Amino acid sequence: MRPFNFAAGPAALPVEVLQQAADEMLDWQGTGTSVMEMSHRSREFESIHQTALADLAELLMLPANYRLLFLQGGALAENALVPLNLLGARTAADYVVTGTWSRKSQLEASRYCAAHIAATNETSRLNSPQNRARLGIPAFTDWHLSADPAYVHICTNETVNGVEFFEIPDLGEVPLVADASSHLLSRPLDITQYGVIYGGAQKNIGMAGVTLVIVREDLLDRALPICPSAFEWKTVAAHNSMYNTPPTYAIYIAGLVFKWLKRQGGLAAIEARNIEKAQLLYQTIDASDFYINWVEPAVRSRMNVPFYLADETRNDDFLAGARACGLLHLKGHASVGGMRASIYNAVPLAAVRALVDYMQAFAQRHA
Ligand code: PMP
Repeated sequence: MRPFNFAAGPAALPVEVLQQAADEMLDWQGTGTSVMEMSHRSREFESIHQTALADLAELLMLPANYRLLFLQGGALAENALVPLNLLGARTAADYVVTGTWSRKSQLEASRYCAAHIAATNETSRLNSPQNRARLGIPAFTDWHLSADPAYVHICTNETVNGVEFFEIPDLGEVPLVADASSHLLSRPLDITQYGVIYGGAQKNIGMAGVTLVIVREDLLDRALPICPSAFEWKTVAAHNSMYNTPPTYAIYIAGLVFKWLKRQGGLAAIEARNIEKAQLLYQTIDASDFYINWVEPAVRSRMNVPFYLADETRNDDFLAGARACGLLHLKGHASVGGMRASIYNAVPLAAVRALVDYMQAFAQRHA
């Protein structure tokens, strides 16, 4: 049996997807070539691309006035490309800071515009098990939007801090832009609440190398003249993500993941499984003084579960013991320390059961 992989990203992929990619590596469906070796303009790749787009649109229940774009550069590149594509004649945008990634987005945007922090939870940020102030999301009524922002940016799932938005504010005419890298496709989403949603693929979508941008069509004409053509959403949309050579193999893998998701019953079915996994893990953490999670229960991420051992001198023991049981990559992000279990779609309930069994046994051994 393969070990269970709790990595934050690049992260676990469904075994069936890896197996199919292995089976098709040398000869994709009788063509005599690997997908890696095909022209992106070939009929074969065109069918892979179109099928992936159609399956993704179906999974997302994509409204007709939104476009799906496959780009490169990851979510960090989008942090610059969002202002470059959306500022138009405006000079300011608003950012809500709820953790490491939204902070990075705000900092990057400030190279291109007045990136105003409309709200932040940074005052309650904590980095140690001794400080138990709760980490949450500022109430929408406390968001101080600027006079005429080009957009409001949020990170709907903070991969490092474990904070997830389950409610989205109604901002009226102001487009809401979401970095949803680490929970896209983990549950159904009401796309109409957003102007733009973006994310790197290396969590729930597939492998690193392709970035998904979901953009409302009326926002495609706001790019600044200095926006690089290969990253101008309007240009990319006009060429159906083929303005330049797209990351073909990463799109192929994403397509296999979309088929796998459809076989699982789609996003509502995967959400039910994700809820069960997350509840089991948070209940185990809360049931013992040995483990601590510092996020307000209402906004605890279902994808990334950070936790501390109350006695941090046991961290190395905990990780070594976990590895010996086939539980991989549980070390927390270096900036916050502790542990983190990322329990994306491809991490089965059996993995979370094995993890909580290990956590309980470890706590008992060291109580
Ligand atoms: N935003 C979020 C929420 C992330 O989790 C990550 C990667 N862990 C990034 C941005 C950065 O993405 P990339 O490395 O694909 O640029």
